[in-house]
Amino acid sequence: MYDYLIVGAGLYGSVFAHEATKKGRKCLVIDKRDHIGGNIYTEEIEGINVHKYGAHIFHTSDKKIWDYVNAFADFNNYINSPIAIYKDELYNLPFNMNTFSKMWGIRTPAEARERIAKQIEELSIGEPANLEEQALSLVGSDVYEKLIKGYTQKQWGRECVDLPAFIIKRLPLRFTYDNNYFNDRYQGIPIGGYTGIIEKLLEGSDVRISTDYYELIGKEPDIAKSIVYTGMIDEFFGFEFGHLQYRTVSFETEVIDTDNYQGNAVVNYTDAEVPYTRIIEHKHFEFGKQEKTVISREYSREWEPGMETYYPVNDDRNGALYLRYKEKADALDNVIFGGRLGTYKYYDMDKVIAAALDDAAKYIR
Ligand code: UDP
Repeated sequence: MYDYLIVGAGLYGSVFAHEATKKGRKCLVIDKRDHIGGNIYTEEIEGINVHKYGAHIFHTSDKKIWDYVNAFADFNNYINSPIAIYKDELYNLPFNMNTFSKMWGIRTPAEARERIAKQIEELSIGEPANLEEQALSLVGSDVYEKLIKGYTQKQWGRECVDLPAFIIKRLPLRFTYDNNYFNDRYQGIPIGGYTGIIEKLLEGSDVRISTDYYELIGKEPDIAKSIVYTGMIDEFFGFEFGHLQYRTVSFETEVIDTDNYQGNAVVNYTDAEVPYTRIIEHKHFEFGKQEKTVISREYSREWEPGMETYYPVNDDRNGALYLRYKEKADALDNVIFGGRLGTYKYYDMDKVIAAALDDAAKYIR
């Protein structure tokens, strides 16, 4: 009998397993996929670490979390500075003086602020009630129309007026010539990919891949004293109150016989006409010098059973439904729910690690 059956070998489950093992607990970590790592899994193709389930860039302002991950990998000094392509125009992201200068032919922060203020004034929006109003009241109509509206609708499959405002608050807005996508103190990509971090976290745990939780628990209901569940919370309860909504992403990954395809790791296509949201050129995350390159076009779709889950759709309807499931989850005393799917949260990696550490401290006595 194990102390913990950890369902899902992603970042949350692996950090929890590591902490439990450190405290002398016996863990079995299972994953239904044929590999560990969950969505941060990286796989080498043509000598390049390919982010198989979408680009992951580690960033945090929490020194404790930064020190924690650095014990499992060396991080490089990659700084994410995406490019946005809108029709035949090219801009820097996040929204900064380079963006504004290109868009309006201006140079100074005062000129940029004046442009944006004028556009905001013409809109007369009160307290922003949705993503569209939030975006418009932050950056005005030009930036919204060219860099936010089309991308967001493709990404979420919903109109910006039907999406929560917080999604757009992830992106910085600044009046300096600084293309760093994040405001965090620490940032980088683990040299050699993310899978190695997970391998190290799982040392000392038993691991079974290609293993379905429901089959296993059906056969061996007493396999562990407690369960850490990082799968979909609605599935755990047999979708009893109905399905929570998720977005899935499909990737068209291609090896191209050129050493440099797009000159940047991340290029977003922000108009509604281009069917994909972005193209990732993986080698640039690690300053790769390989002769070939690997790119992935990302297509975002509504999740349906059988597909991989990526993003929870944190709107009001799903939020209310999640609370009903959470209430049932809280009433169970031997199951801990964690990660993006177990807590239905649009999480960054540092927050996932922090949550796993908090839960480990709380539950492993
Ligand atoms: N977003 C946008 N234009 C862009 C990039 C992002 O409007 O070029 C918006 C979009 O609504 C997206 C959100 O900002 O869902 C968060 O973007 P982020 O890059 O943080 O998303 P992730 O990398 O998690 O997919």
